[in-house]
Amino acid sequence: MAAENRRIERAAGAAGADAAAAPSLVWFDQVRSLAVAHRLVLDPPTYALLWRYVRDEDHALSLAIDTAIALGSFSQAAIADLARAHGGDSKAEVTALVAAAHGQAEALTRRIEAGRTDIADYGRAIADGGARLEGPLDAGALAALLAQLGAATTTMQAANTRLEGELAAAASETRGLVEALGKAERAAVTDALTGVLNRRGTFEALGKAQASAREAGSELAVAIVDIDHFKRFNDRFGHGLGDEVLRFVAGHLADRVAPTGGFVGRLGGEEFVVVIPDHDIAGGVGVIDRARAALAGQILRNAADGSSMGRISFSAGVAGDRADDDCDSLVERADRALYTAKRMGRDRVVPDRS
Ligand code: GH3
Ligand code: MG
Ligand code: MG
Repeated sequence: MAAENRRIERAAGAAGADAAAAPSLVWFDQVRSLAVAHRLVLDPPTYALLWRYVRDEDHALSLAIDTAIALGSFSQAAIADLARAHGGDSKAEVTALVAAAHGQAEALTRRIEAGRTDIADYGRAIADGGARLEGPLDAGALAALLAQLGAATTTMQAANTRLEGELAAAASETRGLVEALGKAERAAVTDALTGVLNRRGTFEALGKAQASAREAGSELAVAIVDIDHFKRFNDRFGHGLGDEVLRFVAGHLADRVAPTGGFVGRLGGEEFVVVIPDHDIAGGVGVIDRARAALAGQILRNAADGSSMGRISFSAGVAGDRADDDCDSLVERADRALYTAKRMGRDRVVPDRS
């Protein structure tokens, strides 16, 4: 309860300092203050964690951070531990970064508004001096007027320099944020092991590919590819080399589909989706079967010692997009054809005939 109160007080304090600020800017300011106070590097995971804390999105996390702050043990290392213990996914990270970018934009607008006030003050001082020049002026009054205008100019120059500095700092922070945002967005849709799209990214991209194929009135083929007897390979050569094979197969499929403008995604395990635009089922089978033959025709070698690991093959099912398909129905038909390919003895590509 005490911890809860501390957070509410802090939020109220920040809001009180600028009652007109949008909530996202208040949270943004709180995240920044925490980072400064605890000397934290605001990398995406740290930003995401602090964002969840100031918004009190996860009570257990908030309690853990409050405790760490109270004990004086809130540090970059503690952040890594907390992130591990309290999860948080890449989507939350992207959301936090978008909010941070939003906060940046608002902070920048506020700074520019402050600069405008300085300029208006300066304009008034000049106008006032100009008006006084129109009347009779003795030497003393002229000296006083010049001193006054000189002082206004110095104040304006100082305000300008401050604003320039603030703008430069904000611009550099924004650049960092935009970069981090791009990275986090890519990470959210990328399979960490193979570098191709992950399941989520695959379905997003497949949905877009279906929409553009419909719009253009063009064909679209989808293949589900599954490595044959991969468990055996792992058992024989170890999981590490198994991972290498997954990377190799993902790259092989990506190379083969690249000329069609298509893409590869990893659905999970040793299963991939290949999306082939402007190809009907027969065309898609052709692309995938050439990829299959090229892979099965190679002897894989362990890069560490050159020893042979034999051949690997895959089986695949290919389906063509239909007007009433969504991602799931299209993938499901390709998946059924894949299982036919497995039943027929593997190392082959089977078209959907439903
Ligand atoms: P099938 O020809 O019927 O597809 O046989 P299979 O052995 O390939 O299929 P099964 O589903 O029995 O086994 C899949 C194996 O894939 C089991 C698991 O060890 C392996 N696997 C799944 N994900 C990974 C991974 O990320 N890395 C490695 N090295 N292996 C993985
Ligand atoms: Mg398999
Ligand atoms: Mg499988």
